[in-house]
Parts: sequence; structure tokens; C-alpha cells
Amino acid sequence: MVTVRANALIGPDLQLMQDILIKINEKGVIINISKEKEPAEYTLPSSYLLIPGFVNAHIHVGDAFLKDQAYNLSLEDSVGPEGIKHKKFVTSSIEEKIDSIRNTLEMLVQNGYTSFIDFREEGLLGINLLREELSKFPIRGIILGRPAGNDFLTDVFNEGDGLGFADVFSFNQDNVNIIKVLKEKNPGKVISIHVSESEEVVARSLSLFDKRDIELCSAYSIFDYLVHGTYANDKDLAILKENNIGIVCCPISNIHFKLRFPEIETILKKDILLGLGTDNVLTNNPNPFRLMSLTLYAAKINNQTISPVDVLKAVTVNAGLLAKKKIGQIDEGYAADLVGIDMNSPNLKFSEDIYIAITMRAEPSDIGFQMHNGKLVKWKDQK
Ligand SMILES: [Zn+2]
Repeated sequence: MVTVRANALIGPDLQLMQDILIKINEKGVIINISKEKEPAEYTLPSSYLLIPGFVNAHIHVGDAFLKDQAYNLSLEDSVGPEGIKHKKFVTSSIEEKIDSIRNTLEMLVQNGYTSFIDFREEGLLGINLLREELSKFPIRGIILGRPAGNDFLTDVFNEGDGLGFADVFSFNQDNVNIIKVLKEKNPGKVISIHVSESEEVVARSLSLFDKRDIELCSAYSIFDYLVHGTYANDKDLAILKENNIGIVCCPISNIHFKLRFPEIETILKKDILLGLGTDNVLTNNPNPFRLMSLTLYAAKINNQTISPVDVLKAVTVNAGLLAKKKIGQIDEGYAADLVGIDMNSPNLKFSEDIYIAITMRAEPSDIGFQMHNGKLVKWKDQK
């Protein structure tokens, strides 16, 4: 058994508890949280605050090799079917693909992520490449694949942790029928899709299907959550709430492509499950601190009121719920994925509000302790 003593943000509400003892079993699962005074294997300094390891709710880990090549490109020219991303996937060697994935996994771990949900390109090949690399890094990847070339949908579903479609134009009613059957037998798998990222997508959906893409996806009854919803209107959001479908917003990516800032305040007010993701590495590095701070700053300029604790939940608790795994919370029964932040670091010293400090001021360099699935990843200045 592994034991950790620290001040920590506990449970789904991230409530502060002082000097608690966390007991972790050999499978890396938290089995007990108490105020017991017995000695622990890891006793964190009193200036440290233990929070759940970050869960990136939406990323494409494979395109790091295109960092900054999309700076002046449109969404379509970057990640559309004819854009630079898919062209590079066609021309790149296996070694290049692996290098690119590795670079992203290194960044994720270094920046405090202990899990991520990947929208995996390149079909079965893409799933297998990521699976292989994941076994070498202290991080959990939830792989949502999509068929490529001659791949069968069923094989992609079975090999990955679910499916992540590019848009409503990339599958048909036959696929929906297959997925319904597969999902019934495998309720733990996750089905998701990009929607309403741009006005063009909504307009194309209306002209082809006579429905906005969010309404269409909801009617298919196969999706657990949707990604983006940047141009979701009130009716779209009401549909999501009614059908208990979550949403993952990626505000940095939206800003990069000069799109709208998503209606995060309304999403939270309607009590729709909200996750936050960093999306394509070609536009920004996976850094939960930058994602949280930019979301809060951008909300202000867009006249939205969002609380820091809700943003922290969107990159931990809620992202874990969207992944359908026992992750993203420090609670009994959950994986011991822990990040200890030094609240006495120069970045955070003097702050009177831990939630604002973590979301708006903290940096990866303030992480002094990191644990993934009960195994130590990092403990600064200690053996
Ligand atoms: Zn995406």
C-alpha cells in the first residue's frame, strides 16, 4: 500500500481538506481518505496543495510535428480533409509519426496531465501506434479512433476506447446502426464527434440534412458528448441538456482560428457537463494552466462570468466523467492520479484564493509532486 499525507482538494466539488491521509492499493486505486495521524510514505510540505491530476478532455496527440505551421492558416486549410494535417499524415513515415506522438506525451506528463482523451486519426494504424507509445509513459490515454482506408468500423471500435468522428459529414445512418449495437454491448466505450466548430459547418449541415449538426447528433442517440459547439445556439444547448449530452470546449484552438469564444457561461448555467481540451498540438501545447487562464481571461473580454473552480473542474472532475473512467477526482474508488502544487512558489505566494491562484497564476514549474495510478512520477527536491 502507498500512503500520501497532504492538504488536498477532495471529491467532485474540489473541497479543501487540511492534512489528510490518502491510502492507495497496489492497483493504484485510492481506497481510503481520512484524518488519521499515522505516518505516510509521502508527506508533502504544508505549502503544497494536492489536486487531481489533469485530464485533457480533447486532444489530437499526433500532430506535434506541425507545430506553428498553421499560424496564418484557416481552420479548413489546417485540419480540414485537404489541409496540412491530413497531407502530413499521408506523407510522414512511421518514425516521424512516433516522434510526433512521443513529443506530445512528454509535454502532457511534464505539464501535469495524468490522462487525456485523444481523437485518433489514421484508423487502426493510429490506434496501435499510440497504444505502443502509451506503455512507455506515466499517463493514461483514452483513444477514440475513426476508420481510415479499408478499416472496418467494428474493428476500430474494438481496438480503441471508443470512437471520435471528424464531423457529421464523415459517417452515415448505416454506421449509426452498427454503433448502436456495439455500444449496447460495451457501455463503457465513449462515442464523440466535432460539432458546430465554425459557422460553415453549421451551414453545411443545414443545407445537407436540413438540421443543425448538434440537433442531428442528438437525434442519432449514440454520442456521449460533443466537441466544440463554438457556434451552438440556445436551442442547441437546450437539446444537449435535455438529452444529457456533455460538451468539450477548446477555447485556445477557437481563438487561434479566429472563431467565436464558446458560450461557456450558458453551458455551465444550463448544468451541461463541461470539459475543456487543448485540441490540435499544431495550434497550442497541451498545458492545463495556460488553458485555464486563457479561458478565464477570454471569458472576461467576452462578457462571460465563469468561476475559477468551474474551470478547474472542467480539466479534472468533469473530464474524468466524460472519459467514463474513475479518474479526475481525489476520492475513494478513483485512480491515484495526483498533482501537488507548491502554493508558496513565487508565482503563487500571497494569493488569498487557491482556486484563482491555480487557474490564473500557476505554471507547470509549480508542480512539486506528481503521481500516476499510485506510482510516483515526480517529487521535486526529494529522493
Ligand atoms: Zn479536435
